[in-house]
Amino acid sequence: METVLSGIRPTGNLHIGNYYGAVTSFVRLQEEYKCFFFIADWHSLTTHPKPEDIRRSTRTILAEYLACGIDPQKSTIYIQSDVKEVLELYLYLNMNAYLGELERVTSFKEKARKQPDNVNAGLLTYPTLMAADILIHRANKVPVGKDQEQNMEMARLYANRFNNKYGKEYFPIPQSFSLVGQGVKIPGLDGSGKMGKSEGNCIYLCEEPSSIRKKVMRAVTDAGPQALNSEKPEVIQNLFTLLSVVSPKETYDYFDEKWNDMTLRYGDLKKQLAEDLINTLAPIRERILDFSSDTERLDRIALEGAEKAHESAAKTIRDVREIIGFRV
Ligand code: ATP
Ligand code: MG
Repeated sequence: METVLSGIRPTGNLHIGNYYGAVTSFVRLQEEYKCFFFIADWHSLTTHPKPEDIRRSTRTILAEYLACGIDPQKSTIYIQSDVKEVLELYLYLNMNAYLGELERVTSFKEKARKQPDNVNAGLLTYPTLMAADILIHRANKVPVGKDQEQNMEMARLYANRFNNKYGKEYFPIPQSFSLVGQGVKIPGLDGSGKMGKSEGNCIYLCEEPSSIRKKVMRAVTDAGPQALNSEKPEVIQNLFTLLSVVSPKETYDYFDEKWNDMTLRYGDLKKQLAEDLINTLAPIRERILDFSSDTERLDRIALEGAEKAHESAAKTIRDVREIIGFRV
């Protein structure tokens, strides 16, 4: 069975863009692959977060992924910093990673430009740590967005370099696995094309109903349909896209017909959309609150995940030490 690995950034709460664009696909992948999901807390150190923020955000994101259906019985979900073997592999990979190629990575250059007073070595070697995350479980597939494509190239480079250096096809060459086409792109309600944390236009999975209502009622619209059966402008299409995700087909068709015969009142559409969003999110929100309230259970799940991940990682490290010429 092929192994899939995905890193989770411990930043902020999950929004419905994350959910429909990525997390629902992860939940499906669990059925077909051996899956590892890890919370990338070492990676987050490049920006020097406070200890209490690390602890809180790690638990939050763990609770949310579990609430969405990542199942610790089917997958291995763990916190990166619990599996110290990753660091040993990181060191070995760094010995064969060269300054020039690391400096040429676009995301490094961008970050160096944006934060000139914090161009730390961790930022530079982000691609080798990511390669270590992947190779430690000898993963075959990594679901990533376009922005991670270059880091995946680097992971393949380091896997190949190791294999060639020691004349052994030890590491599988990890392939990017596109979730695009599987998930939907969730638009923003502010007229922008995409919902995103940086865009500041998110509806969060754990959001309270009253707050969802407010956000939806404030969604940007226009003067209304100007002709029968006209094409929808982007801001209106955005509302319909959301409707297509959370409402029954009859509801979508009902409002679509009203649009086409020019009798649509945006207020009605928004009210319905808000209620359908609230109903769709209700069970997820309830599970998030449930998991979040029980930190002991969360810590236990994290520990069990770490044990499973450790088992897989320790095997790789034993092999790698032997290949390199160290005592095992
Ligand atoms: P940031 O603004 O910091 O980039 P984000 O809100 O875009 O954050 P990411 O952490 O970049 O979220 O994305 C996590 C996952 O969710 C990725 O797989 C990404 O493709 C997916 N995703 C994020 N926003 C959307 C969206 N609006 N529609 C579909 N998928 C999304
Ligand atoms: Mg993003």
